[in-house]
Amino acid sequence: MKSVTIPGWGTVHIHNVVLDLNGTITESGQFIPGILGALASLRKQGFRVYVLSGDSRGNLKQQLDRFPEIGIQITETAQAKRDFVESLGPESTVCIGNGNIDVEMFKVARLSMCTVQGEGATPGAICNADIVVTHIKEAIELIHDENKLIATLRS
Ligand SMILES: [Mg+2]
Repeated sequence: MKSVTIPGWGTVHIHNVVLDLNGTITESGQFIPGILGALASLRKQGFRVYVLSGDSRGNLKQQLDRFPEIGIQITETAQAKRDFVESLGPESTVCIGNGNIDVEMFKVARLSMCTVQGEGATPGAICNADIVVTHIKEAIELIHDENKLIATLRS
């Protein structure tokens, strides 16, 4: 758990980090290099980390076999993603995603970040995010470095 007070925006408590799979931590079905290690590192620092996916290829658990620190939640709709975030506690959750299926969880999470990478992002995801980044590593860096988070969100 980490708490950051941001002038004009309020205090954000970060306990859970919830990530979309496709286009957010993968490109063309392949994990972005270094991302799984970065997520495992977040877990070691006390954050709870979850990957949400419809798992259309049916091999997500196998792919994450070496990373038991990362939770897997099968979610096939935007509402299912939102329901999961609400079950965790949206006030202490950061969501990261890129598509229309992420919009509902973006609306309820205390902090939402949209990644625009190799598979793009939708206007709905961008407009419902608090921060838009060009790479997942930047989103993780914002969680690590509260000075960057404050600089971007303060008003
Ligand atoms: Mg996606």
